[in-house]
Amino acid sequence: MRFLTVGPTQLFDSVPSYIEEALKNNICSISHRSKDFENIFRATTSALKELMDIPEDYHIFFLSSATESMERIIENLVDEKSFHFVNGAFSNRFFTIAQESGKKPEKIEVDFGEGFDFNNLRLPENTDLICFTHNETSTGVMIDLKDIYKFKEQNPDSLVAVDIVSSAPYCNIDFRKIDAAFFSVQKGFGLPAGLGVLIVNDSCIERSKQLRKKQSIGSYHNFLTLLQKSEKNQTPETPNVLGIYLLGKIAEELNRYGIDNIRKETQQRADILYSFFENNDNYEIFVKEKKIRSSTVIVINALDGSEKIINKLRQNNYLIGAGYNNFKKTQIRISNYPMVTMHDVKEIIKHF
Ligand SMILES: *Cc1c(COP(=O)(O)O)cnc(C)c1O
Repeated sequence: MRFLTVGPTQLFDSVPSYIEEALKNNICSISHRSKDFENIFRATTSALKELMDIPEDYHIFFLSSATESMERIIENLVDEKSFHFVNGAFSNRFFTIAQESGKKPEKIEVDFGEGFDFNNLRLPENTDLICFTHNETSTGVMIDLKDIYKFKEQNPDSLVAVDIVSSAPYCNIDFRKIDAAFFSVQKGFGLPAGLGVLIVNDSCIERSKQLRKKQSIGSYHNFLTLLQKSEKNQTPETPNVLGIYLLGKIAEELNRYGIDNIRKETQQRADILYSFFENNDNYEIFVKEKKIRSSTVIVINALDGSEKIINKLRQNNYLIGAGYNNFKKTQIRISNYPMVTMHDVKEIIKHF
């Protein structure tokens, strides 16, 4: 079975051999305070920095999931007010985490399948943090990064955090133009779930230092203890060592393959899928505005319902996703992450 689901998803073909190698090298038994672990930490962070062009002075923290990253970001960067761009389930989750953490978040909210009108948008005063979801996995909307950069330029006093869970590593994000970004590994990195990666700059560290003087920024994983440990290539707690190891191996593999090739091929597959559905009477592309159609999560209205086609594909060894929540019966979601091949795309198209 090939999993063209939006997450968890298909593993990279090489993952089993990396797991075998990890077992052979006792990766799952070594101490997280050992030189061996520090070497793994260093190898993974440096491969990630190369792959995603993360500046040397940005910090990489390992957490348990992307949802944890949202909570840590709110706790460590927001005194009172965050502002959220909400256009689906994951961006809304970021907002509710801020609410439940006792902050006073505000939001601009648009319907599923829509993007945002950045013109005429005023940020509420004293906003500590602006939160974007680059690729809304529930709807297949991918915000133009240029709009995010421009909004940050217009509001230089607020920090900007970007959820890149289902666009990394495809997304060519300029880290210099944002302050924090995060992802988890069971989507575009084709790895087993259980590891979140959070990337922050020194402005974030500075903010959490200031915040700590007046309120709790958390104990288990706050930015200051994460930083202190990461400077020694370590983590505060016993981490998911296997996950960190595997992420390093996949990042190295993708570096050898070339991120430009990955981006180009992802776009080619997305173009083929969208143009196929554009010309098929039984299906319709959910996101109407071309500029914001996701390259990595393709969301399609199935006019005959989603169930039949999902079952048909399953019988042919392909698993695709149903629509999110209320759209379960009427939509399908197809992942187009880096491990998906042109062969996969051609195979699934045959069955529609
Ligand atoms: C899957 C997903 C998350 C949540 O990731 P977890 O690792 O399950 O916490 C957050 N944001 C987006 C955009 C996602 O697709």
